[in-house]
Amino acid sequence: MDFTLTEFEGELLDLGRTYAEREIAPVAAKAWHDERCPTELLRGMGELGLLGTLIPEKWGGIGSTTAGYVALLEALATVDPSVATAWQAHSTIGSLPLLLFGSDEQRERWLRPLAEGRQLGAFGLTEPGAGSDVRSLRTRATQVAGGWKLNGQKAFITNAGTDMSFGVTVLAKIGADDGGKPRFGSFIVEKGAEGYTLGPKLRGIGWKSADTRDLFFDDVFVPDDQVVGEPGGGLGQFLSALEVGRISVAALSLGTAAGALRLALAYAKQHEAFGTPIANFQAIQFKLADMATEIEAARWLTYYAAALRDAGKPFKKEAAMAKLKASQVATSVVSEAVQIFGGAGYMLESDVARFYCDAKVLEIGEGTNEIQRLVIARELGC
Ligand SMILES: Cc1cc2nc3c(=O)[nH]c(=O)nc-3n(C[C@H](O)[C@H](O)[C@H](O)COP(=O)(O)OP(=O)(O)OC[C@H]3O[C@@H](n4cnc5c(N)ncnc54)[C@H](O)[C@@H]3O)c2cc1C
Repeated sequence: MDFTLTEFEGELLDLGRTYAEREIAPVAAKAWHDERCPTELLRGMGELGLLGTLIPEKWGGIGSTTAGYVALLEALATVDPSVATAWQAHSTIGSLPLLLFGSDEQRERWLRPLAEGRQLGAFGLTEPGAGSDVRSLRTRATQVAGGWKLNGQKAFITNAGTDMSFGVTVLAKIGADDGGKPRFGSFIVEKGAEGYTLGPKLRGIGWKSADTRDLFFDDVFVPDDQVVGEPGGGLGQFLSALEVGRISVAALSLGTAAGALRLALAYAKQHEAFGTPIANFQAIQFKLADMATEIEAARWLTYYAAALRDAGKPFKKEAAMAKLKASQVATSVVSEAVQIFGGAGYMLESDVARFYCDAKVLEIGEGTNEIQRLVIARELGC
């Protein structure tokens, strides 16, 4: 397969890369250490059209292919995985349920501001007792006159608590079918809705400049026109958004690994031991060679999954494989990068330590790697 970028995809990549180097790189470390989501950077990306990368022009986006999106995300994450994650969560799981399943009225009202970069999207699936085991979630929506009452709690939700967050799209149980199987609906909850409260920003090992919180719903009224798609179809909607999310996390992993390799290579060329740059030691060269090779292998899987989606073909298995492989590559590459830095890489003042901290969650978010293996095994026929 030929994964050469088209002219449009190449321009998109240049735009993102330039923005990342000029605007994000100078402030990335400070925002991370301050544990602050730099929404001014996301707004800046919005002005360039980048907050609507996967959204068609009709709804305020720029209508990129998945391959163009992957290239752009890798470039952003190479500079700063943490801001890149806020952007990618908005771009996929935060926006796609509205694009794929919303009515035209809902797209106009909620998707357009996201795509035009005026607001940030969030996706509320996980709960304290339901992450991998989605069907056991407890947030419940009960039908009332003119709408629904929502009660429950969501855990670890990205992008719901910033000064540009619109609210959150939430998955909730709405009852059971005739056979007793739970049914799920998908609900738009706007910031400021009565009974909707947010916990404090959570403190992770990494991704410190992305905003992640718990959300609480206490008799929140959601009007009927804020139900996305058919009530009962919510779980399928969320799962299909997650399929694209997996390609996205794979690209985020690629950028995280590529950024760590870039830092390690530069350091190896300038840092001396025994009177010579450490890059002259074969042991270091082999590390760098292995890191680059693994990244390339993960890149091919990721672009393959993206190409399948762009061709309208099934991509579930390949997206899971790309996410599994790329996140493993990221965690091993950042570890080797710190090793190349020695003690200097262990200190949180170093950029490479930031990449190290940002990598672990890639094996957890948007379906743990154990769940990716289950998805792959099922696709194999197990
Ligand atoms: C920084 C961050 C941001 C996040 N952002 C969002 C967000 O925006 N929206 C959202 O909805 N969620 C978000 N999440 C939640 C994330 O998707 C979940 O943490 C993840 O899916 C795992 O769920 P869990 O934490 O409940 O772990 P659990 O599901 O409880 O899993 C615990 C462990 O058991 C393993 N396990 C569980 N079931 C099986 C099985 N059947 N076979 C083998 N092993 C199994 C898991 O792999 C894991 O190792 C975020 C999480 C983090 C850390």
